[in-house]
Amino acid sequence: MASSPPVFRFAPSPNGRLHLGHAYSALENQRLAARFGGELLLRIEDIDLTRCRPEFEQGIDEDLAWLGIGFAPQVRRQSRHFDDYRRALDRLDAMGLVYPCFCSRQEVKDAVRRREAEAGTPWPRDADGAPLYPGTCRALSETESHRRREAGEPHVLRLAIGRALARMAGAALSYRLFDENVAESEVAVDPARWGDVVLARKDVPTSYHLSVVVDDALQGVSHVVRGKDLEAATDIHVLLQRLLDLPTPRYHFHRLLSDETGQKLAKSRLSQSLADLRAQGTSAEAIRRQLGFT
Ligand code: GLU
Repeated sequence: MASSPPVFRFAPSPNGRLHLGHAYSALENQRLAARFGGELLLRIEDIDLTRCRPEFEQGIDEDLAWLGIGFAPQVRRQSRHFDDYRRALDRLDAMGLVYPCFCSRQEVKDAVRRREAEAGTPWPRDADGAPLYPGTCRALSETESHRRREAGEPHVLRLAIGRALARMAGAALSYRLFDENVAESEVAVDPARWGDVVLARKDVPTSYHLSVVVDDALQGVSHVVRGKDLEAATDIHVLLQRLLDLPTPRYHFHRLLSDETGQKLAKSRLSQSLADLRAQGTSAEAIRRQLGFT
């Protein structure tokens, strides 16, 4: 039986214009998909209904076409698939691994400060440097959580990481890392370092972690190529894949581009957009060359 071709994806969020870092990621996906004889999908990660806008999505289409990157015709927009994420949440909930958390950001900060004062040591931080959720709402009684939900109190849904790992009963969790020469190695993961991550935000029945895991499986993605800034988050993705009986793709993490001050390029720092570069007369060819794709 012929095996199906590898499937790659580029998954930008339409919450701003793309910059050179996105161009690099998209071109690296294109290059590796070609090298592996694979297909390249486009996924629009637009679960943030307040920050994502149609004009940014149109900008993504323009920028990618300008760079000369072709995608399979079917584009998945996360905001149209909330039912898929809700189903995954329900499965995790049925396993007793999900709980509502009513804490505001300030309440989390205050709880962390109190714990640090009590213990006289810094509270543990996750791989992105944010303090781990101190578990305040995990301790709420069923009746209390139910009452507050029924009263319409805003809340997120969190994964009870301790219970989730206990369910794995010590099974080794890992993924295959691949490089451009098709060499692979096995990487063990440590999801506990993320604590009780958010699975559903206040306004939508999903989060980055949950939707990326559900979508990679539903789209049959076999090879994930993304920046090193998402390497650590893969630990949570592997755990969710196991809990939901989903396949774990192979992963490759590419380098991140930085600006002249050494800072990582980011929309939040208003890094120069591809649209600006284009308006200034830079050619797509020059960008490809600058980024090492000839
Ligand atoms: N949407 C994410 C971003 O723009 C990428 C998600 C991923 O590659 O897993 O950073």
